[in-house]
Amino acid sequence: MALIVADNIHKDYQVGDVVVNALKDIGFEIEPASFVSFVGPSGSGKTTLLNLIGCLDKPSSGTLMVADTDIARLDRKESAAFRGRHLGFIFQDFNLIPVLTVYENIEYPLLMVQNGPPADRKGRIERLLAAVGMTDQKDKYPDQISGGQKQRVAIARALVTNPELVLADEPTANLDSQTAYAVINLMKRMRDELSTTFIFSTHDQKIVGEAEVIFRLEDGRLAAKETKGGASHG
Ligand code: ADP
Ligand code: MG
Repeated sequence: MALIVADNIHKDYQVGDVVVNALKDIGFEIEPASFVSFVGPSGSGKTTLLNLIGCLDKPSSGTLMVADTDIARLDRKESAAFRGRHLGFIFQDFNLIPVLTVYENIEYPLLMVQNGPPADRKGRIERLLAAVGMTDQKDKYPDQISGGQKQRVAIARALVTNPELVLADEPTANLDSQTAYAVINLMKRMRDELSTTFIFSTHDQKIVGEAEVIFRLEDGRLAAKETKGGASHG
């Protein structure tokens, strides 16, 4: 059973008198525990598509099933609950809370959901700190760690609620290429360990090769799907 099924998705933005067709007839399936990239130049629709899958915006038409839920039908409150239960997010500019420590940043999403007794929470945070190699830095504040370290904290934060799916919009755009590889490979290792599906967007042709499934976007259309076993066009 696919984790995500998109069928004939269109997304239009109205800007004054002009309609921008940001996504056109997008259809695909993504299996659980996949490691997926959406790649395409700036303006090709990557953020728009991630926002739809992330239940942050709605398609103009078409159906989008995520974890067996028709997410276009959810109202605001249901969308927020769905995100809390099923999704984790990683951002280009890390979005750590500056007044919280590394530990507290990872803990933060757990305070938003009812998620077991405090002792269990502490154990989960400590396991994730170790998994992303940040145990020694747990009492530091975001401005005391590097960009790559911030993104490792953000990966742990995205995973702390045990989501099925983590969405990362250009997570390496503010990192040098060596750190970018390390961050992508850390996400892949977390997928291996936790079977969490990861989808990251990028316009960087080098790191996209680390993905196992690649969807190429061109001008709002899905131009190609490539998998490690071969490519199919259409
Ligand atoms: P990418 O993330 O690949 O750079 P986007 O999804 O941000 O692409 O944008 C796709 C297209 O939709 C672009 O033409 C962009 O200008 C347009 N667009 C994105 N967001 C909005 C918005 N909120 N209002 C109007 N147009 C938008
Ligand atoms: Mg974008």
